[in-house]
Amino acid sequence: MFDATSVRREFPILDQQVHGKPLVYLDNANTTQKPVAVLEALDHYYRADNANIHRATHLLSERATRAYEGARGLVAGFLNAHDSSEIVFTRGCTEAINLVAFSFARPRLQPGDEILVTRMEHHSNIVPWQMVAQQTGAVLRVVPMDERGVLDLGAYEQLLGPRTAVAALIHVSNALGTVNPVRQMIEMAHARGVPVLLDGAQAAPHLPVDVQALDCDFYALSAHKMYGPTGIGALYGRARLLEEMPPWMGGGDMIASVTFEHTEYNRVPYKFEAGTPNIAGVVGFGAAVSFLQRFNLREIAAHEHALLTHASAALGAIDGVRLIGTAPERAGVVSFLVGDVHPHDVGTFLDRDGVAVRTGQHCAQPIMDFYGIPSTVRASFAMYNTEDDVEALVAGVHNVLRFFG
Ligand code: PMP
Repeated sequence: MFDATSVRREFPILDQQVHGKPLVYLDNANTTQKPVAVLEALDHYYRADNANIHRATHLLSERATRAYEGARGLVAGFLNAHDSSEIVFTRGCTEAINLVAFSFARPRLQPGDEILVTRMEHHSNIVPWQMVAQQTGAVLRVVPMDERGVLDLGAYEQLLGPRTAVAALIHVSNALGTVNPVRQMIEMAHARGVPVLLDGAQAAPHLPVDVQALDCDFYALSAHKMYGPTGIGALYGRARLLEEMPPWMGGGDMIASVTFEHTEYNRVPYKFEAGTPNIAGVVGFGAAVSFLQRFNLREIAAHEHALLTHASAALGAIDGVRLIGTAPERAGVVSFLVGDVHPHDVGTFLDRDGVAVRTGQHCAQPIMDFYGIPSTVRASFAMYNTEDDVEALVAGVHNVLRFFG
């Protein structure tokens, strides 16, 4: 059985006080904390193995290369990719989406072609598509959602038309917590020959992800949301599509040979990894994946779901609290408003009680526009959170209401 209290001990940062109160870290959708296994992997890499990869003949370089490519294998295994060459390391989810927008979509898009996104996308899955749309004359189409934060699949079906070139869909909403029925949405898109990218930034830390079972064409994720370092992430891409795509950045490591007349590109995935990569970050990412794989991911999901259910029920029962996002299928996140108190004031107040949450529009301004609000307070859960953390959050919200009430 999954035991959050003992897992907590593996995260040294959690054992501290802020403003004289025990830290209650509920900003995990923003970034998660790092276990000792990841800290030690980073430390060990720089102390023992640091060298550049893929190029030198000496032992340190061999070890660094082995650690880097080993991590690629671990990420491939974690996502159940068919082959580790289908994993491209990127700076994060944002860069992974940009890679697909600029290398896969842009060369294919014709004026009038349509790029399908949903109303609940993170800006990272809106802006790259707007940029390629501007450059190609393609247009963005948006799948609507209802008040609960549930996508309208009937409208999605209608929007999937002969001009749809690609669908870019959020797997789990960072602002609402909605888990979208992506398997079904991929099937619907594929029935019309439309390739699908999933933004998995908020799904990979909470749900088992199997890219073969999902049958998605691209899957983007960030290590720092899943207990790994910042500034590193990955793109899973279907091998056939990655093969067809041109590189999007030129430089070292992405080439097979260079003359002034002509450059032969390296094979996939190296074709997409120009320049010296974030080797330590990749090693830390691998350690985070190994750490996660020590647990039964379904048990973690159940634990986090219990916290989410408890928090939603307890907050929802408070007079003056309004939950934003009440989809039946949710993971990781509860967003809410406290009376007329500005979310930033709620956040500052909670911080004084030791409770770290995020306030703002969560890089999802179109969602805020949908609800006609400027921002929300968002508490987001990770494997190391406990019922005590939920109680501290709820007590903090009562304090806010007492103060402003
Ligand atoms: N998509 C979603 C759903 C996210 O929550 C985030 C991070 N908040 C991103 C994309 C972007 O991730 P990163 O900043 O690590 O590239």
